[in-house]
Amino acid sequence: MNNSNCSGNKESPKKAKDKKKKKKRGGSKKKMSVEQTLAFKSVSEWVFLDQPSLLASAFDFGLQKSLGRGQDKLVFELHTHSKFSDGFLSPSKLVERAYGNGVKVLALTDHDTMSGIAEALDASHRYGIKIIPGVEISTIFSPSGESEAEEPVHILAYYSSCGPTSFEELEKLLANIRDGRILRAKNMVSKLNKLKIPLKWEHVARIAGKGVAPGRLHIARALVEAGHVENLRQAFSRYLFDGGPAYATGSEPQVEKTVKLICDTGGVAVLAHPWALKNPVAIIRRLKEAGLHGMEVYRSDGKLAAYCDLADTYGLLKLGGSDYHGRGGHGESELGSVNLPVVAVHEFLKVARPIWCDSIKDILESYVKEPSDSNLARIIRFVRTPKGGDPFSCCKDIVERCLTLWLTSEERQNAEFDAIRLKLSHISLNQETPRSVPLESK
Ligand SMILES: [Zn+2]
Ligand SMILES: [Zn+2]
Repeated sequence: MNNSNCSGNKESPKKAKDKKKKKKRGGSKKKMSVEQTLAFKSVSEWVFLDQPSLLASAFDFGLQKSLGRGQDKLVFELHTHSKFSDGFLSPSKLVERAYGNGVKVLALTDHDTMSGIAEALDASHRYGIKIIPGVEISTIFSPSGESEAEEPVHILAYYSSCGPTSFEELEKLLANIRDGRILRAKNMVSKLNKLKIPLKWEHVARIAGKGVAPGRLHIARALVEAGHVENLRQAFSRYLFDGGPAYATGSEPQVEKTVKLICDTGGVAVLAHPWALKNPVAIIRRLKEAGLHGMEVYRSDGKLAAYCDLADTYGLLKLGGSDYHGRGGHGESELGSVNLPVVAVHEFLKVARPIWCDSIKDILESYVKEPSDSNLARIIRFVRTPKGGDPFSCCKDIVERCLTLWLTSEERQNAEFDAIRLKLSHISLNQETPRSVPLESK
């Protein structure tokens, strides 16, 4: 929801119960069931698509070690923030830390921007981590009945190795939200000023950094730095909480419209931290109709049974991530600390892969139809060559890179991709075309 809710894991009776259950299971290593073994095999095949040498050893090692924690686990971290929104680490530092924590697949899901993805992809080559291009979109839920309250909702979107099919359309939505955030942050600063707190806009903008739309966390940090409050928690509990004396709303899009747009642009849409919602059932019901694929139910302190039940009721994927911001305070979940069961990851990929496969096809086909530099630049935003690696010499190289990173040989070997390859072999790359272009958000 807001920045505080994003990672504010409040202790609840439910959680305490879940913890107990977790303890009962203990840390003992159980043998994998047939279902888990098959899931592990399928997931590791996808994780190591472009590193076949690692696949066999990962699989053997994984089976031997069974379900123990550590290097043998296929750790998926599906919810993280960098400096490009309100995180504290650069995307490269985030990737480095993820590697140190044994993460194999990392989704960077900054608030309302995909500008950090290119840097994360470049860093990922150094560490052999797979990056899922993602974004966490700020939206608003408007109730249909009087009994429900309007409330902010965060939706995670996960894309393929080629990014969204219509990058411009998604980017327009995100840019609108970011512009609204600046206005909103300015409103909050002026509300603070009216409360006789002389916080300066320049201070907030400096903390957010160049090109970053300030959020509540940036204002809270400025309040701490200027000595108006003792810590971030106090900044939120006194002034910035939802409906608080210095709270202001932004111009977020309707949540259903956002979920539809994610589906239309080849993404997988997942409801973030539903436990922060006042009215989760009404929201989940409406979002399911709009095409929502899944919801977060796992946290670093275990899974939340009530939300698992809701996910089952509405036929949604059960996912989760640490929502890591790199604040460094205690109470923050560590990067890679959510223990996503391999079966849950397998279910996720089962839903995501056909969507991603189709979106890659769409993106490549639209390039074949119109092989312009701008269409190529759209692909190269997400398909990066490793530093020191050979630059792409022809379009076919780029296509092979998109495909081998994301699709199995069976998925790749079909008539449609063959037709794309054939057409692309007639298109030569302009020497002037940059090897890689920055993922600009403006
Ligand atoms: Zn959030
Ligand atoms: Zn988040």
